[in-house]
Amino acid sequence: MLVENQRCVIGMLDGFGLTYLEGTNLPVIKNKLIKEGLFKKVSGCYPSVTNVNNVGIATGSWPKDHGIIANSYFNRESGTPEYMNDKNLIKVDSVFIKGKKRNKKVAVLSSKKKSTELFGDSADIAITAENPPKDLVEAIGEPAHIYSSEVNDWLWHAAIYLLKKDKSIDLIYVHITDYPMHRWAPEEIGSQLHLQKMDARLGEITECAPDAAILLTADHSMNKKTRCWNLAKVCENRGIPLLFALSPERDYYIKHHKNYTGCSWIWLKDPEDKEPVRDIIKSLEGVDEVYDSKYIADKYKTSIHHIGDLVVEGDKNTMFGEADEEYETLDEGYRAHGSLHEMELPMIMYNTNLEIDKFNELTHNKDLTIHLWDK
Ligand SMILES: [Zn+2]
Repeated sequence: MLVENQRCVIGMLDGFGLTYLEGTNLPVIKNKLIKEGLFKKVSGCYPSVTNVNNVGIATGSWPKDHGIIANSYFNRESGTPEYMNDKNLIKVDSVFIKGKKRNKKVAVLSSKKKSTELFGDSADIAITAENPPKDLVEAIGEPAHIYSSEVNDWLWHAAIYLLKKDKSIDLIYVHITDYPMHRWAPEEIGSQLHLQKMDARLGEITECAPDAAILLTADHSMNKKTRCWNLAKVCENRGIPLLFALSPERDYYIKHHKNYTGCSWIWLKDPEDKEPVRDIIKSLEGVDEVYDSKYIADKYKTSIHHIGDLVVEGDKNTMFGEADEEYETLDEGYRAHGSLHEMELPMIMYNTNLEIDKFNELTHNKDLTIHLWDK
């Protein structure tokens, strides 16, 4: 059992890839949580977008089992892409439901409403900075705008307030926004300040709730991106129109990534188009590989029914999406994720009972919660 008769704080640190941990002076995380606790480098789940990994971490399971394959999916029957933010699509128990079954009191705190939409119903307390409860605002002030780094500090402040005010809460799941990582590389001052504030808040947690276990991991990392291909236009312009090309990151928070993603899922009009389409896309600058979807589904334990006929993987700097032209040069400072190059993540466990050999077996971010309350 990972925690026993103690509270637990889970940090789902959106966008906090290994490069951010390595590139920032974080005294609490590095000198306390890691030194006195457990740390390892883990892989994210495929693809490196938020919902898939957030649900993976919250349920401790693979995409093929929990059912959230991407932020969106293409519905072949209706011929339209649809959002995958529906809690009814989650097929396994989250830590919130597992907690309830064990009479635990659980809270989910999220900068964006993504997490509260997915898990809010199964938690005793669900708070989002986009629509915060009045009494919390009276106690700790208004949250900053959702597109800011300060909103994350407000969220950690809210977690600390709850830990102090209601000691009967057994689990607090904190899902920060990755807006600061989209905006700044690890070495930039904005990122340093953002993460150092978070580090200080984690220090406050160790002081105000010394009994609490702290578990940290991320959904994906972040890289500088320089180009975007619109694969539907690319193939149409070369005489083989596609049925659909989907960016798995496609969701309704478009401001910081324009729905572009570091991979793309291709639905063909005709199975015979497969090899010609593969050849066209493979010849593009910045394309690492074009896989059969079966290979990807098997390797990354996701659903073959939702990832198209072909899976395109970009290099570190390449995105795919519904750009106006077939090729777009991205603005300087454009940072995003979604490729196989954003899957290196930290896993940190502090003040837990987990045996070291069990910790050594963990390989993916989703494993953070698998031993939470097991026997
Ligand atoms: Zn994310």
